[in-house]
Amino acid sequence: MNNISLTSLASTDAHEETKRIMQICNACRYCEGLCAVFPAMERRREFDIGDTAYLANLCHHCGACYHACQYAPPHEFGVNVPQTLAERRLETYGQFAWPPKMANIFEKNGLIISIFITIFLSVAVGAMLALISPNLFWGVHLGEGAFYVIMPHTVMAGIPLAITSFTLVAFVMGWRRYWKSTGAKWGGMPALSDALTAMASLRHLGGNQNGAGDGCPGPDDAPSMRRRYFHHATFYGFMMCFASTSVGTLYHYLLGREAPYGYFELPVVLGTVGGIILCIGTAGLWHEKRRMDKGIKSLATLGMDYAFIWLLFWVSATGLILLALRETSFMGLTLAIHLGLVYGFFLILPYSKFVHAIYRFAALLADAGEKRLSN
Ligand code: SF4
Ligand code: SF4
Repeated sequence: MNNISLTSLASTDAHEETKRIMQICNACRYCEGLCAVFPAMERRREFDIGDTAYLANLCHHCGACYHACQYAPPHEFGVNVPQTLAERRLETYGQFAWPPKMANIFEKNGLIISIFITIFLSVAVGAMLALISPNLFWGVHLGEGAFYVIMPHTVMAGIPLAITSFTLVAFVMGWRRYWKSTGAKWGGMPALSDALTAMASLRHLGGNQNGAGDGCPGPDDAPSMRRRYFHHATFYGFMMCFASTSVGTLYHYLLGREAPYGYFELPVVLGTVGGIILCIGTAGLWHEKRRMDKGIKSLATLGMDYAFIWLLFWVSATGLILLALRETSFMGLTLAIHLGLVYGFFLILPYSKFVHAIYRFAALLADAGEKRLSN
């Protein structure tokens, strides 16, 4: 195991810029009601490398402080909190990555993910085409067990089990590195409850630190709840798809029933509704990202953001296409494409924008703990 300490994280340009800006903001304090970042900043006098990592992951890049700031460019102070924290946040993904050798994957992440998924998908589809007889691959298979004519259940379930085990270890190690490096303190069960509530409701995307505002400002400065709603759709759509797979597993092992299931059975209803919501959420996030004020965009993170959003969209969309074509001779091909994307998605998960959810929750938990321990 790696023994992480504050001194093991090397200083970077983004850290130095975050530190400079936080010192200006700490003197100004005009934005203290906008989000959780500014109150957390005010609890500090100095900003070491762990502090900037923590504050960067507490920011959800709404842009409100940029629009409010009298020192934003072209002012000579050049205060751009959202962009600076986005760049520092990207660095933290690499600094906390496990195994550490994978840290560089967060540079040019969009390109790397695109190449990886293309290769993974080609290999998965190519292998199935080569290994399965054409009659079976292009045949029409109906009723329970139809999927397993194409791929045995042990293989179909065994691959994700191995991938998920690795992914979970990577997440736990990343979390541990984050927690230790930022000096976060456990604030007890009430703090955990606060953080879970903030995450489940996406409270901070509501427009101020209490979630009682009008949403995030758009490029024309007009606030809107769209970003919050699309994040909700993405999060809950993903959770419903996850629930669909879990219920399907229970059907298989507890009830002895094999997929595919009927259109109105629970695994299919959860997967269909979740898949549609997930497609809407990811398409909406892509649109919101495109219309974001150019002043706060970070070019360094755009590739990673777009690659992840599109990958999630296509994982979901191919699941829905499979549902539509499962009783036709295209079932084998759509199953191969869907499984190739799903397996690739879960393998790349610890090195994609998904880590945002892990470190953001860790930052919310640390923030809730700090507030409770300081009272
Ligand atoms: S972002 Fe600008 S206005 Fe807001 S606290 Fe910092 S310096 Fe002050
Ligand atoms: S961009 Fe939004 S979340 Fe980030 S520091 Fe500014 S106001 Fe807070």
